[in-house]
Amino acid sequence: MSQSVAERPAVVSVREERHGAIALRTADEIAAIERAGAVVAAALEAAQGVIRAGASTSEIDRAVRASIAGQGAEPSFLGYPNPNGGAAFPAACCVSVDNEVVHGIPGARTLRAGELVKIDVGARLDGWCADAAVAVVVPGAVDSALDAFVADSWETLHAGIAAMQPGARWSDIADRMQRLAVARGHGMVDGWHGHGVGRQVHEAPQAPSLVSHGLRAERDFTLLPGMVLAVEPILVLGGRGTIDADGCMQAQTAAAGADGWTVALPEGSVVCHVEHTVAVTRSGPRILTRRPANRAGCDSNTNHGGCGLTG
Ligand code: MG
Repeated sequence: MSQSVAERPAVVSVREERHGAIALRTADEIAAIERAGAVVAAALEAAQGVIRAGASTSEIDRAVRASIAGQGAEPSFLGYPNPNGGAAFPAACCVSVDNEVVHGIPGARTLRAGELVKIDVGARLDGWCADAAVAVVVPGAVDSALDAFVADSWETLHAGIAAMQPGARWSDIADRMQRLAVARGHGMVDGWHGHGVGRQVHEAPQAPSLVSHGLRAERDFTLLPGMVLAVEPILVLGGRGTIDADGCMQAQTAAAGADGWTVALPEGSVVCHVEHTVAVTRSGPRILTRRPANRAGCDSNTNHGGCGLTG
């Protein structure tokens, strides 16, 4: 789940950040978040298992609920308060299709071949949270441009993660992600951000996936060992991504629609959103929501390029 600007926590206020507003987790705490991450990863696997033309998005939600409950955990998004004062989120996962950006509510909608489905899952296990999202093309139609777009989105995410070394500035991570997205001919969506993860699914700081003047001037921070962040770039297929002379991206924005939750671009747009929860460690980034198929053979403390294209 992405954090909205409206939810902005009271955090880092000046250029010289005070990491005291950003929790630093111990190795044991990171291990606990990783156990929650394994729950999320398994729930995403279960969700993918039901994706087919003709399936309803509520089937995806049922699969996620059953998976999380079966692992003795709780869905973080079910009952999540609406930052704009509307009804709480009514499902265990967000399912956003095609032009929907984030926070789609699962329901009666029926999937069609060739649609791009984004599934976002958060879970709490033993008091610790994790948050991740995958993007899946509904089987049955061949669209190599769409497949490439999804691959570009994963590559963007993993390029950002790979740069999450202690001492890096967050703006450098965002810069890497936006440059890669734009180089591949895609735009990005602003206003929905990555975030800290810990006892709550949304904690300080905001971790946007593109560079804005506001990030540079007020909200940038230095990565320190023990920080745990959800990283979640949102790309627009063939969108016009432009970067100004200050290195800041001019991106599309989108707000929640009539149901109070679903954020969408105009019909005809195609949006991809992928996400991992990542710990910064002394030896580099560690993905805490890696799916089982990708855990084997991957050194979780090193660059994940080449082993993360499917999450
Ligand atoms: Mg998130």
